[in-house]
Formats: sequence, C-alpha cells, structure tokens
Amino acid sequence: MVAYILPSVGSALKLDRRCPHCHRPHGRIHSSQRHGAIRDLKVSSIPQRRMKCPWCGLTWTLRAEGVKPGHQRSDRTIGVGLLLYMLGLSCRHTERVLSALECPSGKSSIERDVASAGHHAQELHRQAPPVRVRVLGADGTGAAMAGREAGVLFLAGVDCGGWLVGVAPLHEQQTEEVRRHVGRVMAAVGAEELRTDEHSVYEGIVPQPRHRLCLSHWRKSKGKRAWDLHRQAVAEGRSLEADTMGELLALLRLRPRPPTVPPELERLVRRYINARRGLPGKVNQLLQHVERTWQKVSDDPVDPTNNATERVIGLTFKIRAKTMRGFKAVHKGVGHPYLPAGRRACRVSFVGKKGSAICAR
Ligand SMILES: [Zn+2]
Repeated sequence: MVAYILPSVGSALKLDRRCPHCHRPHGRIHSSQRHGAIRDLKVSSIPQRRMKCPWCGLTWTLRAEGVKPGHQRSDRTIGVGLLLYMLGLSCRHTERVLSALECPSGKSSIERDVASAGHHAQELHRQAPPVRVRVLGADGTGAAMAGREAGVLFLAGVDCGGWLVGVAPLHEQQTEEVRRHVGRVMAAVGAEELRTDEHSVYEGIVPQPRHRLCLSHWRKSKGKRAWDLHRQAVAEGRSLEADTMGELLALLRLRPRPPTVPPELERLVRRYINARRGLPGKVNQLLQHVERTWQKVSDDPVDPTNNATERVIGLTFKIRAKTMRGFKAVHKGVGHPYLPAGRRACRVSFVGKKGSAICAR
C-alpha cells in the first residue's frame, strides 16, 4: 500500500528577515500584508508582503509556504499533477483534470514538473545512505528514447521485496558496459548473489556459485520448450519422445525442487546422449541444457525468482512506456522509475520543502 502525501499550502506568513540576495539578516518590512492569487485546489490566494534589505537595498516578496517564488501554481497543484501522471494519465489528460479542478496547468508545465521531480527523486536516491542488499536482481527492458530504441537496465534488491537499487540507460547488448555496471553495483551494495534470467550478458560478472538464475524464468522457458517438443512428438506419433518430455515436465514441476540434478534426469540424458538429428536430437539438446543449468537455478528458500525486479520494471516503467510514444530524452526516461519507486526517499520532498512529499510508503 502506497500512501501519497501532497504538499500543503500555508495560511500564515512567517516573517523571515534574511535577505535572499546577500543572505544577511534584519530585512525590513516594505509593504503591508497583501494577498496574492495562486492556483490551488483549496485556497485562491496566499498572504505575501514585500521586504527590503538594509544592506544591499534589494527587495523581495515573502510568501506563505506552499508556492515557490515566481510561481502561480502551488506545490499542491504541482503535486496533484505529478500524482495523476504517476497513476497513468498522460500530460494532456492531467492538464484536463487540473483545469476541471480550476487549477489550470499547461501540459508542457506538467511534463517539466515530471522531469524535474524524476531528476530530484534520482538525486535523493543517489544521496541516500547505501542500502545493503543480499540478492541483487538485474533485468533489462527496451524503450523508445529520443526517437530510437534504447535499453534500460534495472537493478533491484530481491531479498527486500523489490527495492529499486538503480536504473541505467544500458541495453543488454552493451555487454561490456552492463557487466562493468552490474559488477560495480554488486560491490557497492555488498550483494552476495546476482539473480538474473538466462541472458548471456550476466554471465561471468561474479563467480558461478554467486550467480543464480531466476527459477520462474528457467521453469517457464524449459517448460515451454518441453511442451513444444511434446506436441511435435505426439503429432509425429513418437510415443517414447512424448513420454520423455512428459517426464521432464514432471521433473521441472517438482516441489520442493532438488538442489542437485535428480537421477531421473540423468537417466533421460543418457537415453538420448547419442541422438543428433531430428526430434531426438532436439530432445537431447534440451535435456542436456536442463542438466547443465539445473544447479545454476536459485534455490533460495524465501524467493528463488527475479520477480521482484520485474515487478519494479512493470510498475515504474513499462506501464508508462506502453501508453506513450517514447521518452523524449534519455534522462527523462531514466529518471522516471525513481518517481514512484522513491521509497528510499520516503517522506522527503519531491516538489517542495519538508513534509511536502508526493510519495511515501
Ligand atoms: Zn541583501
């Protein structure tokens, strides 16, 4: 459950005499208290007054909390826009909701707000004390960025239920960069285990016993292949191969899953070890592959999958990427996942000062 806290707008003017230009104290009141119009859901104006600095002679406007200097839209309005966007509305539709609420806000302003909040969230994330993660999950996804197909690499803490550790503008095909990056993050968070799918880019980053495959990925891909071969065997009237695939499927489904290769699988492998061509050849390949990867699959008693990482990608990125034509700039796309995943920045502001968080746990 995520509770969103919107920034509030102050009703009283706090007399702050410090000059924003030269930062010296003892500023003088330069006007009576007036009310300035703002665009907000609850209040139409806030108290403000002009101040003058006796040192540098410059003046400034003192305003109640909740509206940034020079802005008409309150932090609350900006926060509502961000929230609507994060919940899936487009900038254009967010604009419509806000004007229906009588706080008009252009769609370009909303886009700017989202980009700057994403950047801010990313900064907060970076500055937060480093988390310790036992199992680091890595997975990549594709996205249109700045008019071209780009990749985004997600790293999340699997053992802590999918904490976003980091997002990098890297494609899984950028082998060297991905390996370097993942290796660096592994060291930074003190991870003991790297959990991924079977993509070859993740091989060799850490020694084998520390690199484990996601059980659900593995089970799904091997199961699918076994089913395909099973269907083919039935269609070709090869009952022995069909039975073998049936046995393999049963082995894949075993719960609890034996941590070492079960003798039944070794028996199946031996049966097809010399098959090279046609369906038996394919069966041989699959059986050998399953045998070879059996012990690479995670046997974590709590969560042997990489689903937590995928959840992070789905919730913070994929849904948004699906409903738009693409991110206009790489930094916007990469900043985006930090917005809803700003859990580490819990109760810290994305848009305003203290207590004005848009995102909390
Ligand atoms: Zn001054």
